[in-house]
Amino acid sequence: MKIHEYQARELLRSFGIPVPAGVVIESVEDAAQAYKKVADEAFGAAAADGQGPLVVIKAQVHAGGRGKAGFVELVRSAKKAEDAARFMLTNRMVSPQTGPEGLEVKKLLVAAGVDIAKEYYLAITTDRKTRRNVLIASSEGGVEIEQIAHDRPDAIIKEPLHPLLGLQGHQARRVAFELGFKGKQVNAAASIMTKLAKLFIEKDCTIAEINPLIVTPGNASNPDGQVLAIDAKFNFDDNGLFRHTDITALADSTEENPAEMRAHRFGLSYIALDGNIGCLVNGAGLAMATMDIVKLHGGTPANFLDVGGGATEEAVTEAFSIILSDPAVRGVLVNIFGGIMRCDIIAQGIINAATKHKNPDGSLGFKVPLVVRLEGTNVEAGRKLLSDAQSKIPTMQPATDLTDAAKKVCAAVG
Ligand code: GDP
Ligand code: MN
Repeated sequence: MKIHEYQARELLRSFGIPVPAGVVIESVEDAAQAYKKVADEAFGAAAADGQGPLVVIKAQVHAGGRGKAGFVELVRSAKKAEDAARFMLTNRMVSPQTGPEGLEVKKLLVAAGVDIAKEYYLAITTDRKTRRNVLIASSEGGVEIEQIAHDRPDAIIKEPLHPLLGLQGHQARRVAFELGFKGKQVNAAASIMTKLAKLFIEKDCTIAEINPLIVTPGNASNPDGQVLAIDAKFNFDDNGLFRHTDITALADSTEENPAEMRAHRFGLSYIALDGNIGCLVNGAGLAMATMDIVKLHGGTPANFLDVGGGATEEAVTEAFSIILSDPAVRGVLVNIFGGIMRCDIIAQGIINAATKHKNPDGSLGFKVPLVVRLEGTNVEAGRKLLSDAQSKIPTMQPATDLTDAAKKVCAAVG
């Protein structure tokens, strides 16, 4: 589960990590007022129009790369704040993390802007290779971090967390020195690292990332500058959510793929992809094998829907309906190896979908080619149900094995 940046900032604050203040708005009309409020609170009564205090307007979407896409804007007047808000709320954001259709922006964070002397990268995640949680840090944080990690992996520091003790003080301080922090910055940065590590464990995160962590230029009251988090991204382990009602309360269903949500309600796993063959399978391993063989025969999956082990007839019917609701689907491949999942339940789901699923044009059932490969528990009963119903499902062809099924569906979608 993901959360928005403004929620992530609140979470950082609750663990004692310093973050500039901000407010959330949902309409262009609120932008000028929000600018004045944030400027007033952060910089005192000096807030004025024109060359006023620095405020940052940031799109709140579950995707990164906002800076490069023009959805993080620094402004110095209420008028400019309004212009930036209008742009972000009326254009879809397209970044390497969104797909070409982009995302609608519904919320903006209006936050106190800061002057930046240097940007750093800080994250905690799980390293599958060493089977440990790991602190990842770089003195070259900011919007180019992916490129840096790719081109110069040596610019990235990795420090494993102790399985029981977490990130220890001496480790955090050593990393802070390695990153080049000086004077008072060292303890400030080390303390942020240990707090982030604590947050990661306590909240069952799969990633806790601050990018950038910044140092402000030094001044009379803070000669070494301040160390602040100005952007954060979290992902939480869905299997741990049951014990974090505070986190589940932050879920924003409008940011989730609607088909994936619908599947989730029926205990199905649905993953949207960008091809044109809908795949209904049981089990993650079979899903991977099915997609590989579809690719091998020149097709591209539009999605895969894993009905898992013990899905009911109702859930299977829903599964077909979800696949058929995707306008990109030009053909459907059913590949079931019945174990606990019975082939006759799948067959009944196909028949139900063929007679009940309503298409947008009002017609019923499968308008696209359907290729079915069934094996395993109750396969004879399943095949009989389907052959008896063939006249109701004219686009259906049976397949003898997986290769035959993949070839048939690829040929059918052209
Ligand atoms: P992202 O592109 O989605 O990761 O959004 P970020 O919040 O990380 O912002 C992208 C970049 O905008 C940062 O790396 C900074 O360089 C810049 N930026 C964001 N907030 C501020 C700010 O308050 N002041 C200054 N000077 N730059 C900022
Ligand atoms: Mn960022």
